[in-house]
Amino acid sequence: MTDYLVPEEPYYRGVGDEIAMYEAAYEIRMPMMLKGPTGCGKTRFVEHMAWKLGKPLITVACNEDMTASDLLGRFLLDANGTRWQDGPLTLAARFGAICYLDEVVEARQDTTVAIHPLTDNRRILPLERKGEVVKAHPDFQLVVSYNPGYQSVMKDLKQSTKQRFGALDFDYPTHDIEVEIVSHESGVDAETASKLVQIAERARNLKGHGLDEGLSTRMLVYAGSLIAKGIEPLKACRVALVRPITDDVDMRDALDAAVTTYF
Ligand code: ADP
Repeated sequence: MTDYLVPEEPYYRGVGDEIAMYEAAYEIRMPMMLKGPTGCGKTRFVEHMAWKLGKPLITVACNEDMTASDLLGRFLLDANGTRWQDGPLTLAARFGAICYLDEVVEARQDTTVAIHPLTDNRRILPLERKGEVVKAHPDFQLVVSYNPGYQSVMKDLKQSTKQRFGALDFDYPTHDIEVEIVSHESGVDAETASKLVQIAERARNLKGHGLDEGLSTRMLVYAGSLIAKGIEPLKACRVALVRPITDDVDMRDALDAAVTTYF
C-alpha cells in the first residue's frame, strides 16, 4: 500500500471550507461526491487530502466499457492454474486506502451497484465470483466525482446511489484565486495569468450559447505553461484554449477575437 501514498504535498489552493469539510467527512468515513465541471480541481483536491490525511490513494478513471470486474477483480490464468487478482476497489477496501472513482457516472450500472454495500453501514464488498466478502478496512473511504453539467437523463446517477454520499460543490475559482493557481502551476507572471483568466471568464459566459462546457482552469494552466516555455501567447491560447473547446468555425473566430483583445 505504501506505493499508493502521496509522497509530496500536492499544491491545492483552498477556495472555501472544503478542506475542513472533507476532514470531518473522513473522520466519520462518509463516502464523498465531488461535483463540478471538468478541470476545476477535484482530482487535485483528493490528492491533497490523501496526502494531508496520510492515507494511500487509489484513483480509477471510469469509462463506459468498465465492468464491475474491472473494479472488483478477476481470476487470471497463469502457469499454475488460476489466480485471483484484486481490482482497485477491492485493494482499497482491503488495505484501507481512499478510492477515488473519477467520473463515476460513465461507468456501467452494474459497477455503481457494486459500490452500494461499501457505502452504507455494512462497509462490505461481496466478491461473488471468488466467494469472499471483504470487510472494509477502518481507513477505507470512497470518493467519486461527478459533473452535473453534461449528464443526460439517460446518464445520471440513480437517487439510490446519490443518497449514499455527502457532496461538495466545486466550480471555477474566483478571479484572484484562479490567477494565483494559473500562475503557480504554469510559471507565468500574475499579469499574464490574469489575462488568461479574463479570456476564460468571457468564454464561460458562452456556456449554453454555443459552448457546451466552460473553459477550465486546467486549460488555462496548459496555455500558461506553453507561454512560460516561450510560445507566443496568441498561438498558445489558440492551441490550448480555443481549438480544443469548439469545432464550430464561428465560435472559434469569436474566441480567437477575444484572445486578441488581451494578447
Ligand atoms: P478535475 O479533477 O476537476 O477535472 P483537476 O483536479 O485535474 O480537475 O484540475 C486540473 C488542473 O487545474 C490541476 O492539475 C491544477 O493544475 C489546476 N487546479 C484547479 N483548481 C486548483 C486548485 N484549487 N488548487 C490548485 N490547482 C488547481
